[in-house]
Amino acid sequence: MTTLRTIPELRQWRSRVGRLALVPTMGALHAGHVSLMKIAREHADHVAVSIFVNPTQFAAHEDLSKYPRPLEADLSICREAGVDLVFNPPVEVMYPSGAMDVVIDLPSLTAVLEGQKRPGHFKGVCQVVAKLFNLLEPDVACFGQKDYQQLRVITAMGESLDWPIDIVPCPTIREVDGLALSSRNRYLSPEERQRALSISRALRQVERQVQAGHHQTNRLITTMQNTLLEQHLAIDYVAAVDPVSFRNVSEVTSRTLLAIAARVGTTRLIDNTLVEPP
Ligand code: AMP
Repeated sequence: MTTLRTIPELRQWRSRVGRLALVPTMGALHAGHVSLMKIAREHADHVAVSIFVNPTQFAAHEDLSKYPRPLEADLSICREAGVDLVFNPPVEVMYPSGAMDVVIDLPSLTAVLEGQKRPGHFKGVCQVVAKLFNLLEPDVACFGQKDYQQLRVITAMGESLDWPIDIVPCPTIREVDGLALSSRNRYLSPEERQRALSISRALRQVERQVQAGHHQTNRLITTMQNTLLEQHLAIDYVAAVDPVSFRNVSEVTSRTLLAIAARVGTTRLIDNTLVEPP
């Protein structure tokens, strides 16, 4: 496995390999990331993982400085998963002239949900992903459905800018008790982790309600809110939206995204599910 930190080395490496699949990450890797690496391998002979905690997607009050950076463990996980290249640039390599010099935005998709609660977040995400796409020129890039809005924004960005890169959606990997894997789970105390289970429990409850014929999203949203509030989570949003436009929907008549963002103590977690009428 090759590990590179500079752009000239990266370009040289890229010129020597053919079809490439990229898995962009912020490190603190877990089984969710590994599943993306496995899916990436199905799409290309070479797999690259970027590990970069991108400062431009964090707001001033967010967890940039405390975000976990266990690089040695991450490199072992990548090696084990058969990754060919890890690109792990320092901030000065990615942003030599300072952050946010170029802004890509897709306002209709980023004004809601995560974008509304984390102003500027998707500008940072689009900026770093655009740079990674230009630097690595992947044929395929894998993104998790756990961050559903991010996946949709990047897919739309690629289509709008005519990037010849297939964006592959990858299913959310969960612990056996339902908690979606996240690098931020390591902030949770055992008691908080127990309370955090209410997020996936809320999603499973409303999946069953939809299957049982309850399609009014008001009712589904109330069910989810109650389940989260029982465990004293602080709700950022609970939403039922069209998974392409992110417009609110009042009734589940076609595929609908049910999305949750909530804080357990100081840890902010997100999760979602796609439901369809039976
Ligand atoms: P992150 O390192 O959190 O920025 O995530 C890097 C990539 O891994 C993103 O495409 C995420 O959507 C994806 N990812 C994070 N958690 C999971 C999970 N539990 N299952 C599947 N993919 C995930």
